[in-house]
Amino acid sequence: EAMTPKEVIALAQAKDVKMVDLKFCDLHGAWQHFTVPVNQLSEELFSDGLGFDGSSIRGWKGIEASDMLVIPDPTTAWMDPFTELATLSLLCDIEDPITREPYERSPRGVARKAEQYLLGSGIADTAFFGPEAEFFIFDDVRYGSSVNESFYHVDSAEGAWNTGREEYPNLAYKIRAKEGYLPTPPADKGMDIRNEMVAVMQELGLEVEAQHHEVSTGGQAEIDLKYDKLLRMADMMCVYKYVVRNVAHRRGKTATFMPKPLFGDNGSGMHTHQSLWKSGKPLMAGEGYANLSQNGLYYIGGLLKHAPALCALTNPTSNSYKRLAPGFEAPVMLAYSARNRSAICRIPTYSSSPKAIRVEYRCPDPSANPYLAFSALLMAGLDGIENKIDPGEAMDKNLYDLPPEIASNVARVPSSLSGALQALRADHEFLLKGDVFSADFIKNYIEIKQAEHDAIRLRPHPYEFNMYFDV
Ligand code: GLU
Ligand code: MG
Ligand code: MG
Repeated sequence: EAMTPKEVIALAQAKDVKMVDLKFCDLHGAWQHFTVPVNQLSEELFSDGLGFDGSSIRGWKGIEASDMLVIPDPTTAWMDPFTELATLSLLCDIEDPITREPYERSPRGVARKAEQYLLGSGIADTAFFGPEAEFFIFDDVRYGSSVNESFYHVDSAEGAWNTGREEYPNLAYKIRAKEGYLPTPPADKGMDIRNEMVAVMQELGLEVEAQHHEVSTGGQAEIDLKYDKLLRMADMMCVYKYVVRNVAHRRGKTATFMPKPLFGDNGSGMHTHQSLWKSGKPLMAGEGYANLSQNGLYYIGGLLKHAPALCALTNPTSNSYKRLAPGFEAPVMLAYSARNRSAICRIPTYSSSPKAIRVEYRCPDPSANPYLAFSALLMAGLDGIENKIDPGEAMDKNLYDLPPEIASNVARVPSSLSGALQALRADHEFLLKGDVFSADFIKNYIEIKQAEHDAIRLRPHPYEFNMYFDV
C-alpha cells in the first residue's frame, strides 16, 4: 500500500492530476499547505524537497533562521476530494536546508523519533493508537439557519448561559441536555452529514469503525477510526479533521474540535486507546487486573505519574480545562479502572481476547496535536515500564461521588492550562529520552502556550459581567 515516488508520479498521471498540494502540520496540529503545478512533481521533489519561509509559521523559527525545506512523504499520497482541479495531496516532513536534519519543532518529526525510540528500547516494536475524537457540528452563521435545521447553536449557548433550556417548548425533536447518545432521526439531525464524512474518509483509505451522535445536544458527533501505528494514526487524525471540517463547510455547517464549546453540556474528548506489541504478540495482555500484564500495569503507572505534565500536550488549550470537570464523562481523578469511565485510565472489558487488551486514556481532547499527544503518551507509558512504576490499586467506584475525605487524597488533573504547563516545566525528562522532544522544543512550547493562557487571563470574560457588574 505504501507508495514509492515513482508510484506517486504514476498515480498523478493515471488520475490526470493538475496540482500537487504539500501539507505539513504546525505546532498546534493545524495543517499548512502550498500548491505546485503537477509539472513540478518529480523524484527529486521527494529527495530535495521545496523551500519555504518557516518564520511565518506560528510557533516555528525566528526571522534570523527562517529557510526550511518541506520533504513530501510518498507513502501519504491521496487525491484531495475538496478541490475543483484534480489535486494530489502529500503530507510532508520539515528539514533544515543546511544540515538536512529533521526540524526539531516539527510535530511529525517528533512522532518519527518516538517510533524510533520504541524500536531502540527493545520493549516492543509497535505501538498502536486508537483515538476516539468527538466534535460539534454547528450552523455556519454566514448561511443563516432555520429553526428546524438548527444544530442548536443559539439554543444551547443561550439556554445554558441565560434562560435555561427547559423554558423552551420542544417542537422540533430537540435533544435534551446530555441525552444525545444515541437517538435516531429526526432527533438525530446529523445522520446524513456524518455518513457523508464517513464515506469521504473511506474513499481516502481511512478505516472507519462507527459514527454516532454524541451525548451533547449541540450536534455533537463521534466518528471512530480503527487503531493504527503511532505516526500513521497521527497522519490519519489530520486527514480526519480536514474531512470533517470540509464536509461540514460544503453543507453550510461548521465543525469544531474545541473541547468545550457549550457550558453545561458534555465536551469533546479524544480518548486514546493504546497497546504495545512485540513480534506480533500483545504485550499488555496477561494474568493481572482486568487481564493486564505486568507491563500493561507499569504502562498505566507511567501514564498516571506523568498525567499532569502530559496534559500540556494532550489538553493544550485554555478551553481544554473547561471540559475536565466532574459530571460530563470527562476524567478528573488520576486513577485507573476496568469499569469506570470517570477514571483517567480505563481498561475496556468488551472482549477478554489478549489481542483486544489495551489501555484507554480518557484525558486527551481533540484540540491536541495528535503527533505530540501520541508521542508523549508513548514516552510516559514506556517510562512506566522502564522504571517499573506501580500504578497502585484500581478504583472501581464512581469517582465523581467519592466521599470528600477519600476524594481529597486522589490526585487530579490540573485545573488550568497554566497548571499543566507548570507540571510540564517540572516533569519532562521522560520526554527528552532519545531526543524525542528536544529541550528547545519543550521550552518554546511552554512559552507559546503560556502566552495563550495569559491572552485569556487578561481579557474580561462576558460572564464576569453577569457576576460582577453590580458589585
Ligand atoms: N464526551 C466525553 C468526554 O468529554 C466522553 C463521552 C464518551 O464516553 O464517549 O470525554
Ligand atoms: Mg464518545
Ligand atoms: Mg471511549
